[in-house]
Amino acid sequence: MKMDMNHTDVIVIGGGPAGSAVASILSREGRKVTLFEKEEFPRHHIGESLMPDTYWTFERMGILEKLKRSPFVRKYSVQFANQASRESRPFYFFEANHHESAVTWQVTRDAFDKLLIEHAAEEGATVYQGTPVKQILFDGDRAVGVEVRMKDGSTEKFYAKVTIDATGLSAMMSNKLGWRISDPKLKKSVLYSYFKGARREPDLNGGATLVLRTAYGSGGWFWYIPLEDDVTSVGIVADPEYLVKGRGQNLAKIFHEEIEKCEACRRRVEGAERVDKVYSILDYSYRSKQCAGDGFIIIGDAYGFLDPIYSSGVLLAFKMAELAADAIHDAFNNDDFSADRLGQFQPLLDRGIESMRKLVYAFYNEDFSFGQFLQKYPDQRFNIINLLIGNVFNEHVDDIYVPMSEFAEIPPPLDELISPENGDKSSEDIEPEEVLSAK
Ligand SMILES: Cc1cc2nc3c(=O)[nH]c(=O)nc-3n(C[C@H](O)[C@H](O)[C@H](O)COP(=O)(O)OP(=O)(O)OC[C@H]3O[C@@H](n4cnc5c(N)ncnc54)[C@H](O)[C@@H]3O)c2cc1C
Repeated sequence: MKMDMNHTDVIVIGGGPAGSAVASILSREGRKVTLFEKEEFPRHHIGESLMPDTYWTFERMGILEKLKRSPFVRKYSVQFANQASRESRPFYFFEANHHESAVTWQVTRDAFDKLLIEHAAEEGATVYQGTPVKQILFDGDRAVGVEVRMKDGSTEKFYAKVTIDATGLSAMMSNKLGWRISDPKLKKSVLYSYFKGARREPDLNGGATLVLRTAYGSGGWFWYIPLEDDVTSVGIVADPEYLVKGRGQNLAKIFHEEIEKCEACRRRVEGAERVDKVYSILDYSYRSKQCAGDGFIIIGDAYGFLDPIYSSGVLLAFKMAELAADAIHDAFNNDDFSADRLGQFQPLLDRGIESMRKLVYAFYNEDFSFGQFLQKYPDQRFNIINLLIGNVFNEHVDDIYVPMSEFAEIPPPLDELISPENGDKSSEDIEPEEVLSAK
């Protein structure tokens, strides 16, 4: 009896946006899913600004109405300010998209992630919280299940045709297999916190994500994201050499010094109260060489993490959840759980991620400005808004980079950077979860 309970179609490791989305989708589309999440939700997580195209995954998950009823702030646009704090015209999503999906949400992640994981359970997934996966079980090269530490301290094994790694930055599988490729230019330090009473426009611009460049040479910018209950998320992303090196241990002091230096940020938080500690993280972009092996798929941040400048993390995690769900249905229909079949979506996925990565690189060219680019190529405004919406999986998305290459260096694909120094085991920068191999 117990053996039956521990056999399922699909095991999902991690209940963040990627894991909860794929578990919801597969469950409502008829698969038997078991999800293990090591934390008890709600838990703190960064990544609050959504892209409009998340709408379509919400719809497939059957959670759209819950989002519409939520107190999360509505986001209509993104706005940029340059090093001199001169602000661009907002890029309104409805300029390029006339569907209701042009409006998205700024989400407090503890509430959002709880909503998602509980929804997965409502759709029929068996969800264990506070239950870490200790190791992925293999039969030869084929993943066959997981070993889990149950809440009572015991260890149990679960088996499935497909195991999905959605462990976020822990990147359980790609760390274990040495598949992670770091992006050499996108290594940043981040400091962030939350303010109550920070300035907010009274109209629909009040829900905008603001991207405020910091001084020349810092390689950085502030995010300014309005959340519910008059709380605003404010964070700085910059080169570690600039932001933290040689500046001591007092992160709050560094954080406030940086706010003072950025006029567009300073005038918005003036008089506001900081209501949380200053968080510090390293944010190193990377991608896994493969998104699947025999019996397993890797999705979300566990597959790849891209600098947060355009708020693409949850969108990409959702897209991977959908592509993985499609590949898993195909695998069951053909009784073929090979790496080739499960990983069939990788070319499409990588093309979309690369497209976003090119725009990230353009931004970190400190002389690049959307304003100047659009002065010369005004008809590209539509394409920029499409990228900011998250519409990166269509075949024409890269057309913009021909004119943009006059203004900024556009990088070669990340997988062309694989080398003995930057290929296998390039993971010393992020603490991996405990990953063991077992038969
Ligand atoms: C500074 C910064 C700012 C960002 N801003 C944005 C933004 O504005 N918008 C946006 O869309 N994205 C943003 N992101 C990215 C976003 O946070 C991630 O892309 C997103 O959370 C990815 O979802 P995920 O489900 O893959 O991973 P996660 O959300 O990290 O979820 C992974 C889950 O796996 C669980 N887990 C890990 N190991 C195990 C284990 N062994 N067993 C069981 N469970 C396990 C973890 O507890 C976690 O709950 C930002 C990221 C950073 C670093």
